[in-house]
Amino acid sequence: MAFTLPALPYAHDALEPYIDKQTMEIHHGKHHQAYVDNLNKAVAGTENENKSLEDLLKNVGSLSPAIRNNGGGHWNHTFFWETLAPHAGGEPTGALAEAINSTFGSFDALKEKVNAAGATRFGSGWAWLIVKDGKLEVTSTPNQDNPLMDVAEVKGTPLLGIDVWEHAYYLKYQNKRPEYLNQIWNVISWAKVSERFGAAK
Ligand code: MN
Repeated sequence: MAFTLPALPYAHDALEPYIDKQTMEIHHGKHHQAYVDNLNKAVAGTENENKSLEDLLKNVGSLSPAIRNNGGGHWNHTFFWETLAPHAGGEPTGALAEAINSTFGSFDALKEKVNAAGATRFGSGWAWLIVKDGKLEVTSTPNQDNPLMDVAEVKGTPLLGIDVWEHAYYLKYQNKRPEYLNQIWNVISWAKVSERFGAAK
């Protein structure tokens, strides 16, 4: 029942020129693989060995830091790969677009809010668009925490998550995290985010 690295749902170079091939190879093949391996080590031979990842995250405040960091890392990256897609970007449509407009005023205002959440997250972490109590909200988490965790300051159902660890952008964007955040909107899969929105409501 060990956790396994999911295959990337597209080629390593499919998100070029916004996210480069080498970053994807290292990010998926090395970083995400390490979270999976270290999570398996952390639960091996314990009562947590056969629990689902979601179950672990919900109760992570009472579990080891290794489960929090690596369980979060595994969940967040699996979610991230599915949030991105080649030939994606553009603007959301339908019910999600309506909810974004009524909550934030416009799609551009949402992007600004997410980019600010990512840019101001000190050190490593994630910026999120979530559904909380039926409403859209933008938040961020440190390290590999996420809004599903009992320890999260703002809890909710993630619709979109952006990795702002340096390993996600440093080879192409160096220290320019805001530029990475501007460009990543070109590869956001609004089809996937809308599907999650439909399921969350
Ligand atoms: Mn990462």
